[in-house]
Amino acid sequence: MSNPANTPTSTHLPTPPPAGISVEERESMRRQGVLLTSFAEIYNWGRANSIWPLQFGLACCAIEMICVAAARFDIARFGAEIFRASPRQADLMIMNGTVTKKMLPQVVRLWNQMGEPKFCIVMGACASSGGPFREGYNVVKGIDRFIPVDVYVPGCPPRPEALLHGLMEIQKKMREEPLTGPDAPRYFRKDTTCEYPIPEFGEHDLVPPYNSELWKPPAPIVREGK
Ligand code: SF4
Repeated sequence: MSNPANTPTSTHLPTPPPAGISVEERESMRRQGVLLTSFAEIYNWGRANSIWPLQFGLACCAIEMICVAAARFDIARFGAEIFRASPRQADLMIMNGTVTKKMLPQVVRLWNQMGEPKFCIVMGACASSGGPFREGYNVVKGIDRFIPVDVYVPGCPPRPEALLHGLMEIQKKMREEPLTGPDAPRYFRKDTTCEYPIPEFGEHDLVPPYNSELWKPPAPIVREGK
């Protein structure tokens, strides 16, 4: 498989260029040694190349995440090698394993303690949907029921290359994020919250069983003739 380090997307400035300048014009000026940019572009470029992931692991997928930080795959090539043990110093949560109902309140609390702007990669079948333990009474059937997810990395477990691909997708999202207007991220808008409800154990299950602003139960399938 191709080496992700050879892809140009991790460090290149995004398109489109600042307003009023065409891509060709900017490229032409860049060849002359003149770099034209905007505040948003520089801000997003810096953010995308200095990600600090939260250092924690939930299950076997965490072993693959650890491999990504080790010498063979070397996440440092993407500017994201500083795994932080404190959520207040991290801006990327990698959900890397089975989320049990007992663990869930702590996971949501960690997410709330991370400062904005923050992003979430869901790694593997368990964190995406419950995976092989989906029918288990004690397993959350997808962390996206409780916190917002930016990128899903499928697999059981996903290989380190797949996680690196997910990281590059997050970087792409960061580089293309507008800072103003209706598409501005949640932390720049007054009508959204950056804190998410922490579920508690009720009589039979978690209360609430999901965050209704993030996830809705699928509509029941109605078969014709029944
Ligand atoms: S998706 Fe597979 S490898 Fe990852 S935590 Fe679940 S069972 Fe383990």
